Amino acid sequence: MNSFPRLHTYDDDSLCTYKNIFMIIVEGKAVDIAKLDRTGFLDVEVDPQLDLFAEIARLKREKNAVILAHYYQEADIQDIADYIGDSLGLAQQAEKTQADIIVFAGVHFMAETAKILNPGKKVVMPDAKAGCSLADSCPPVLFKKFIEAHPGHTVISYINCTAEIKALSDIICTSSNAVKIVESLPADQPIIFAPDKNLGRYIEKKTGRKMVLWDGSCMVHEIFSLERITKLKHQHPDAKIIAHPECEEPVLAIADFIGSTTGLLKYATNDSAQAFIVVTETGIIHQMQKSAPHKTFIPAPPDNMCACNDCPHMKRNTLEKIYLNLRYELPEINIPEPTISKARQSIQRMLEISAKAGL
Ligand code: SF4
Repeated sequence: MNSFPRLHTYDDDSLCTYKNIFMIIVEGKAVDIAKLDRTGFLDVEVDPQLDLFAEIARLKREKNAVILAHYYQEADIQDIADYIGDSLGLAQQAEKTQADIIVFAGVHFMAETAKILNPGKKVVMPDAKAGCSLADSCPPVLFKKFIEAHPGHTVISYINCTAEIKALSDIICTSSNAVKIVESLPADQPIIFAPDKNLGRYIEKKTGRKMVLWDGSCMVHEIFSLERITKLKHQHPDAKIIAHPECEEPVLAIADFIGSTTGLLKYATNDSAQAFIVVTETGIIHQMQKSAPHKTFIPAPPDNMCACNDCPHMKRNTLEKIYLNLRYELPEINIPEPTISKARQSIQRMLEISAKAGL
């Protein structure tokens, strides 16, 4: 091991090359970085005695790093984050951070968005395999053909898409600002909306505008059970049903309130009701309980035997992975420059329209 040329040192550990194989030495053992492609994270043991909260805080200070976490992350991760938010809030924070390193505790397209907005900064994520079924439902090659088949259309894409799809789009939107963004275009301007058909239909209803919809959806929001939610409502007649617009239309039809993740949090905090059936990923309930501890939040059940509905991609992230991610700065997000430039234009248009609308 001593014959490896040392490139970078992390205390006792080191990053080395040997016969063009990149390795890091962790706790005296060589770890092949190429394995990251398969695992998505550094698969090394973390001392169970380590105070992860203290270590993460120390590394953040030493490296001038910031942790941005989505509301769907597990409670411990939300509690160590510098900023917790939904897609719009996280994009806004990513744009204005002064940190040298952004640790993105969310899914891949979100970390990509942070990199697009901060090409000069290092963006890392705890598990690069934390993907998104919705983003995956829109492959760039097929989407390019779809756009070519609809000339003259403005392409609005929901932020839950890959960097390549953002680069093919004119404007990005989130569930917080989608209605305002569609309304900002002239009434006779034809629009393609991608990739979420459920959000697209909801926006059509809210704006009265017909759009060409890409046939994509989120595996988490699509499997809520109308029957089981209705039964829950009978058991808790005073509870209000609050739902994310990525849900299917029959579920949205029985909701008392429909909104983005931040919108649901604000509504649940401020509304006079004392109980809520929450029809979105369960991670948001941690913040709801913190901001309104006296209220009851009931997770809406999916169409299977489970009592609540977690996103398996979001839940790949753990405190251990965040610690390793901060310590070794791997895996890192890298995007080719032409894609960054094109994707940034469509995100910037969203941020400008949102700022004008006071969002
Ligand atoms: S909840 Fe749905 S849209 Fe969000 S990351 Fe998971 S799969 Fe993607």
